Amino acid sequence: MSDSADAQTEKHHFQAEIQQLLNLVIHSLYTDREIFIRELISNAADACEKLRFIQASGGTVFQTDTAPGISLVTDEKAGTVTLTDTGVGMTREELVENLGTIAHSGTKAFLKQLAEEQKPDAKLIGQFGVGFYSAFMAAKRVVVSTRSKEVDGSGWQWISEGVGGYEIQPAGDLPRGTKIVLELKDDAKEFAEDYTLERLVKRYSSFVPFPIELNGKRLNTVQALWARSKSDIKEEEYQEFYRFIGHDPDAPLMRLHFTADAPLAIQSLLFVPTKNLEAMGMGRMDSEANLYCRKVLIQPKAKGLFPDWLRFLKGVVDSEDLPLNISRETMQDTSLLQKLNKVLTGRFLKFLGEQAEQQPETYEKFHAEYQRFLKEGIVTDYQHKEALSKLIRFETSGLDAGKKTSLADYVKRMPSDQKEIYFLLAPNRTSAESSPYFEVFRERRFEVLILEDPWDEFVMDHLHEFEGKPLKSGEKADLNLSETPKKEGALDEGSAKSLAQWMKESLGDRVGEVRISSRLVDSPAVVVDADKQTSASMRRILKAVRRDDSTPSPDRYDLEINPSHPILVRLEAIRQKDEPLAKDVTDQVFDNARVAAGILEDPRAMLGRLNQLLEKVLR
Ligand code: ADP
Ligand code: MG
Repeated sequence: MSDSADAQTEKHHFQAEIQQLLNLVIHSLYTDREIFIRELISNAADACEKLRFIQASGGTVFQTDTAPGISLVTDEKAGTVTLTDTGVGMTREELVENLGTIAHSGTKAFLKQLAEEQKPDAKLIGQFGVGFYSAFMAAKRVVVSTRSKEVDGSGWQWISEGVGGYEIQPAGDLPRGTKIVLELKDDAKEFAEDYTLERLVKRYSSFVPFPIELNGKRLNTVQALWARSKSDIKEEEYQEFYRFIGHDPDAPLMRLHFTADAPLAIQSLLFVPTKNLEAMGMGRMDSEANLYCRKVLIQPKAKGLFPDWLRFLKGVVDSEDLPLNISRETMQDTSLLQKLNKVLTGRFLKFLGEQAEQQPETYEKFHAEYQRFLKEGIVTDYQHKEALSKLIRFETSGLDAGKKTSLADYVKRMPSDQKEIYFLLAPNRTSAESSPYFEVFRERRFEVLILEDPWDEFVMDHLHEFEGKPLKSGEKADLNLSETPKKEGALDEGSAKSLAQWMKESLGDRVGEVRISSRLVDSPAVVVDADKQTSASMRRILKAVRRDDSTPSPDRYDLEINPSHPILVRLEAIRQKDEPLAKDVTDQVFDNARVAAGILEDPRAMLGRLNQLLEKVLR
């Protein structure tokens, strides 16, 4: 392995695997080479942590008075970055062992994976215990000077240009710790810029628990709050932390700080921003939940950590279990993420349920801002559909205007003869309550949910039922008022039937069927979807959404008429005497019903007729 040059300098070849690894690192992993900063700082932090541990457990170290810490110095002119730590350092043997061989069992698997994949992900490097070599992505030459914590040791220098091997020589009397000088490649000189390095250190290593200085300036001042116990954290600290990681001047609306031990060790601090930026037209948000392992950023905006519909969350998820699993079983990477996702999502849903109970006002604000996300979840995430159905709220005829209900509370209020949960889609409460579809519910004293959000009907479609009670559109509800006494002057069944038949002939193809309604009280007529698939209001939305509405099949609605309404009573009386007028009135009744359903395409067409009718009335 080693061929001696002179008494001072020893030349070593890299272990064959390292040679292979270096080639891959240098030649095919260029996309994300900035992560070498994170890797070197993480190593420095590990070395500091080892020192802290030894001292805490009563061990003696060289230079007891030097506190563990990390400093970076850039020299833009020379194109170098120097990273110094006062950690445990390395003996000569350790230098050879740690920087010249691959000791980790996961590394072979990693290499195999890299060889199989055409475009490997550079982000993974650090997770496979080969982080040190990422330095060669940016540096053409690396000089490591180190002095172990051992009291009777001495300094050593390790020098490599990546290819071929490395040299080791004694370096005399050094302070404890490790100094790494990176002589940057010509196309990597930007890393010697103070500004660039500051940005990178802050991105990846802000929460490293040892002080990091860059050119004499302290960079990491915010603590990794998620790893501290809740009871020791002041409100201001949380606020400061959120401002830092959330890039949001406003205080967060909600906060969840929790730890879990099984099935995975997780420490997490999550925030719901006060404002939903997506609703403000800022475009689709990207999750800002970052994945850490022992306070070092592994994946910013980690994809897959939460389901898509939780993309408004900001914060930190730290799992100690991460790198071990990943480095030992490379292919389990995604299943680990799935496990994390399951735990995190479950925990956050539970938290929302608790908030709804304990902090109703905050929850109301949350719901107002983020209900679309919950609904997106119901429609797209079968696994969490049920839990989410408990979290959505609706305006309802059963409560005062402005007060929203959960489905569970609606069910609790249902009278025993009500078997279904009813809803009406309407732009607002007034419009719902004045709709002909509402009449039967008012008479029967059944509560109706008022769905003001056009998405709600999709949601109801996907839910289908709640606590075993079918969710049913009020437009399609099979309800009648047969028990209520007939109004005076109402048409008898025979004349009502023949009127209905005549109206169908008069309206022709524009209507499916004309029937006698058993659910109307105050309105003369109502349109009902002939195919019973979608409600009238849903069709209106679909029409608006669909691009190619140029050649739709003609909408077919059934018309239900109210035989006790004066208009219908008189229509029956005049239809033989003045057929043209009766036809106009029929058209108008149909159009009015379509207006009530919100499906009249072009109201201008009916205005002419309406004016003629008015003229006749005033004659
Ligand atoms: P990992 O950090 O996953 O072990 P690396 O390739 O990053 O893999 O580092 C290899 C080894 O080199 C480390 O485990 C450590 O023993 C040693 N090492 C690297 N940097 C330092 C340092 N700054 N101080 C002391 N030891 C170091
Ligand atoms: Mg490392």
